[in-house]
Amino acid sequence: MGYACYEITRNGEKIEAGYSVETVCEEDGCTEQIDRGLAHLCGAMPGGDEYGCGGYYCSHHLYGGIGPAEGLCKRDSKRWEEESEGAVSGA
Ligand SMILES: [Zn+2]
Ligand SMILES: [Zn+2]
Repeated sequence: MGYACYEITRNGEKIEAGYSVETVCEEDGCTEQIDRGLAHLCGAMPGGDEYGCGGYYCSHHLYGGIGPAEGLCKRDSKRWEEESEGAVSGA
């Protein structure tokens, strides 16, 4: 029981997720062996949410997160950076 293995819907497609599910980092060209646990998730919710795309990445390809999303991929962390730059001026 728990978060070892569960089914999620991502982009209309059902996939298995959880820390017992082995996969490869989804960054282009990266072959790092990871699992689909929350530690590797982009965003806070499996399947994607307002923070991240729901992809799974190795530690090299997850960056500082926003709020409840502890890790974000390159694209999403950049997006949040740009949005927060617009809100915070003169920092
Ligand atoms: Zn992402
Ligand atoms: Zn990677």
